Amino acid sequence: MDRAPDFGSGGWGFESSRAYNIQLFFGFPLLLFPESVYRFMFAALSEAEIAFEKDEVPIGAVVVHNNRIIGKGHNQVETLNDPTAHAEMIAITAASNNLSSKYLTDCELYVTLEPCVMCTGAVILAKLPKLYFGAFEPKSGACGSIYNFAEDKKLNHTIKIYSGIYAEESKNLLQSFFDKKRKIN
Ligand SMILES: [Zn+2]
Repeated sequence: MDRAPDFGSGGWGFESSRAYNIQLFFGFPLLLFPESVYRFMFAALSEAEIAFEKDEVPIGAVVVHNNRIIGKGHNQVETLNDPTAHAEMIAITAASNNLSSKYLTDCELYVTLEPCVMCTGAVILAKLPKLYFGAFEPKSGACGSIYNFAEDKKLNHTIKIYSGIYAEESKNLLQSFFDKKRKIN
């Protein structure tokens, strides 16, 4: 299944097929992660696409508990005039509300881009044990790029990190957003 990176008004074609692609290797699916990981990252990408449509930097996140999405969010910094309205923060708040718990110890966070310092901090405070992200953010990522708080042993909570899931799709969406901005300005 092909998901052409065509981000016109119809978006990625997610709505029509809800299909997500899995790389083939000699005709067989090349799965580095369980199928559910792709499914949930695809949901995070769909959130990123919503941000794109709202003219926000397209980043999306979901929190999963018992194989079910219990919180989702997309970047809303411009809409809310709030520098803390990152996708991860919104998804974590939604998940905490959903579970009526300040800790998300049995949950996983999926986000399309490597989290920043603030969001990595929030993941640590929520005691989220696992984090899956798409593309690396070399300028501000705090899970391996400029810092690695997620695995810093000085903190009393470390997070298991998995990266590279739908990284190309995530990067393409960001790229076309910034291309669009450059054309307008
Ligand atoms: Zn952030």
